[in-house]
Amino acid sequence: MNQAITRREVSVLSFLSSRSAIGSRSSVKRFAAQTLLLVLVAGGVLSADRCRAAAPGLIEFSLGNNALLGIPIMDFPSELIVLARDGQLHTLTGIAKENIRTLDASYQPATTMEMKVDLQKEFGRDFEVISTQHFLVVQPRGRGERWPELFERSHRAFVAYMSRRGVKIRRGRFPMVAVVMPDSAAMYAELQRMKVDVKRVAGIYARESNRVITHDGGHLRFIADTVRHEAAHQSAYNYNVHSRVVITPRWVTEGVGQMFEPETMVGGQSGLQTRDRVNQSSLNQIKTRYDGGRSPEFAEAVRDLVGTNEMFNNPKTTGDAYAVAWAMMFYLAEREPERFQAVLSGTASRGTYQPYDRFARLNDFERWVGTDIDQFAKKVSWFLKSL
Ligand SMILES: [Zn+2]
Repeated sequence: MNQAITRREVSVLSFLSSRSAIGSRSSVKRFAAQTLLLVLVAGGVLSADRCRAAAPGLIEFSLGNNALLGIPIMDFPSELIVLARDGQLHTLTGIAKENIRTLDASYQPATTMEMKVDLQKEFGRDFEVISTQHFLVVQPRGRGERWPELFERSHRAFVAYMSRRGVKIRRGRFPMVAVVMPDSAAMYAELQRMKVDVKRVAGIYARESNRVITHDGGHLRFIADTVRHEAAHQSAYNYNVHSRVVITPRWVTEGVGQMFEPETMVGGQSGLQTRDRVNQSSLNQIKTRYDGGRSPEFAEAVRDLVGTNEMFNNPKTTGDAYAVAWAMMFYLAEREPERFQAVLSGTASRGTYQPYDRFARLNDFERWVGTDIDQFAKKVSWFLKSL
């Protein structure tokens, strides 16, 4: 499956990285409502000196014709980022940014029941909303338990795999919402409604809405890899492996996504070995493009990915970027779990929307991984050879 066209991360918040090049951090007001810490971020992310003296509580803001409640997360000069009660992040600009009303109340996430009712209203009578232990699954009526079971199984496998490697998992405050549209045309219409512009995907996880959106119009076999990949993003962003309001290098997030594509990662079989968990399409890509990791370009690709997201952004190198990101994260997870954990907790606990330049990314990497890039690339290529 060609990764470049079957999926794409929706970096709705990517404007932040480009802005960081021109805006200075001091131009950014930071809100640090106490609730925010509980809701989204690992403890201690926002240090006291960065907090505004008066932490704002609940606000009312308008979105189209709807009045919604939420808390402000970040106040940029022309945009206000707000976390709504259902866990969606909204970017308010212009009049919407000015038209907010502070309420004398504290932020409470919506209950599962409230969200279920709202989703039913949003998608209408052709859809049903199924609640499982961790999800609210919106699907066309009468599609049974197949999708809810798939999402539950993927999520449980994710938690088990991460926990076994010492990654600190913490349950999010919002049920995860997965939307299954009847076919691909309906999925694209839904993505358009969400103002997400993608082509030729089988599904996506959108960090802003915090939803996975996919469709039931093809053979699950063909889209299952993508669904597992996107579900892993959702699990990671909701269970404290990444933070939705922190700028995370894409090799880290996509490496995790790629790792969970193989059926064996969520199948629950026992007695599996590293070799059984390999993402075969990523491994093949590395064999073809980098002589299995032995070519000098491999270390260069590793360096590029650690320093910037450029390889992901350039359509010519997107496929390579996913494959090398997989190799890096899979190596760490399978052979150096403490380093794996250090990369994940280190990236997740950076400041809210704090810019992350190449120099800092390279520095952090060498500290977390305990070696320089060339040495690391060598270890990864030996590992790949052993598979
Ligand atoms: Zn992805």
